Amino acid sequence: MSESDAETLFERVVAGEIPADVVYEDEATFAFRDIRPQARVHVLVVPRKRYRNVAELAAADPQLLADLVKTAAKVAELEGVAESGYRVVFNTDSDAGQTVFHVHAHVLGGEQLGFFGRLG
Ligand code: 5GP
Repeated sequence: MSESDAETLFERVVAGEIPADVVYEDEATFAFRDIRPQARVHVLVVPRKRYRNVAELAAADPQLLADLVKTAAKVAELEGVAESGYRVVFNTDSDAGQTVFHVHAHVLGGEQLGFFGRLG
């Protein structure tokens, strides 16, 4: 993925230019299934407006960060995992494996999730 694709990919998904399996959307946020799911439920939640990562979003617009987390909880309800439990992950930069530089929450669940952290 080129640097420019890595920045604009999810703006193109939100605009409907790249097809996506949409789970939920509202004025500020947009949720769609990850193309390479890492769990039975794996949904990405993004703000319509792009910030590079969660720290930039928190600094610039704390209300929008709260909206994003509320949408993650809504997705968990819609996907039937609110009771069984789920994980919300924000990868940030290289060591965390961030590949798309439009802040996104991964909502993962639907089965027992593994430990996470160091490889191997
Ligand atoms: P990151 O690695 O930046 O935390 O997460 C980016 C996620 O976006 C990855 O899990 C990847 O599978 C997903 N992804 C990449 N391109 C697309 C796409 O075109 N459509 C969808 N739905 N997901 C994508």
